[in-house]
Amino acid sequence: MLDLLITNAALPDGRTGMAVAVQDAKIVEVAAGLHAQAAETIDAGGQLLTPPFCDPHFHMDATLSYGLPRVNESGTLLEGIAVWGELKPQLKADDMVQRALAYCDWAVARGLLAIRSHVDTSDPSLLPVEAMLEVKRRVAPYIDLQLVAFPQDGVLRTAGGEDNLRRALDLGVDVVGGIPHFERTMGEGAASVRLLCEIAAERGKLVDMHCDETDDPLSRHIETLAFECQRLGLQGRVNGSHCTSMHSMDNYYVSKLLPLIAESGVSVIANPLINITLQGRHDTYPKRRGMTRVPELLAAGVNVAFGHDCVMDPWYGMGSADMLEVAHMGLHVAQMTSRKGMLACFDAVTINAARVMHRRLRAGAGLRRQLRAAAGEGPDRGDPAARKPAEGLEEGAAGRADAGRGRRAELAGASRQRRLHDAGAFLTGAATRCEGAAARARAALRRPRNNRTA
Ligand SMILES: [Zn+2]
Repeated sequence: MLDLLITNAALPDGRTGMAVAVQDAKIVEVAAGLHAQAAETIDAGGQLLTPPFCDPHFHMDATLSYGLPRVNESGTLLEGIAVWGELKPQLKADDMVQRALAYCDWAVARGLLAIRSHVDTSDPSLLPVEAMLEVKRRVAPYIDLQLVAFPQDGVLRTAGGEDNLRRALDLGVDVVGGIPHFERTMGEGAASVRLLCEIAAERGKLVDMHCDETDDPLSRHIETLAFECQRLGLQGRVNGSHCTSMHSMDNYYVSKLLPLIAESGVSVIANPLINITLQGRHDTYPKRRGMTRVPELLAAGVNVAFGHDCVMDPWYGMGSADMLEVAHMGLHVAQMTSRKGMLACFDAVTINAARVMHRRLRAGAGLRRQLRAAAGEGPDRGDPAARKPAEGLEEGAAGRADAGRGRRAELAGASRQRRLHDAGAFLTGAATRCEGAAARARAALRRPRNNRTA
């Protein structure tokens, strides 16, 4: 007997009426009209069934802190880093945990079931690290949260930066991060890439660096990252995040660079919402878009994923954990409006992102609960009395998904979109849905903030 059978599903490639059979946490068959005995059968009701959304680049330690201690007036990257620096001494672990858990509610309600989050390791207290490890433990039943040790102020630029990062890894952080373009000089940037890749090689860790998040065409740390990846035998385990300088690089240089990145197996993450708002700030007109060269990287055989990066934090005052919003922006900025391009954008927030995280796709409890909630099934979790105490952990995903009022209505709306199995219609419809979600999210955020200042 199968563990799980999902029937009557639409798949991202356009097939409808499909059944997916799961046994021992593996998809064992995908076929039209399959009927078999299963411990659990879910009728997808014609909705789209896909691998879960996966956000490969996020900052969970800063999320939902918008306005604390003040708003980023210029909206620039550097003022964002300054605001975060002002907030850091005031951070309390419990507040960070609560904000992150609230964000995870939003995430799971939108089918976002895997997140890679950078965690600031600049402060010797490692408070954000402890807080995010706690969040990771608490959301484990329904979200796969992977953490990156991120020396926000530069591993070499910060006194004790390397020691802090090593201690974060000792505590159980999964991935080695970096920010070479923020080190004092190009030379120090390259040295930081070398050092961090060596630490990863020595400890058997993955690497994910904020790399060249600048409009400076001469910021070429991605080249060093690809080189170090090959030198140390880290192929397939290294990622360059942002890589926005590539937007502004000389075309001849890029024609040499792209094959080097492909050869090294380095993947690239663009963060379309953030890149389009933070880059090009020193331009008058024409104003650069700043996102890395997504179609060209894909054509060269590089695995490219899209990340959300920020939601309501010092760098970005919007966002709603909706990876379709991310894909929608990526599609526009990269002009990937062909059907093939749109499907590639969908892959960028699902399977390509999962590849970056070395994540095995599986139909976990989170997906099942989310499908049920989307189909309007299950107990009315809006009424706490309707919840059975024994459901506890297992029901975590859907219970949390319903934490926000109106979530089920929203999911029902989403399911209508999902019946439009054509990826183009799916992605286009996402924008309308996100406006309401973002407004509700902002209203929800205002309430606790008023309480704090009261
Ligand atoms: Zn980032």
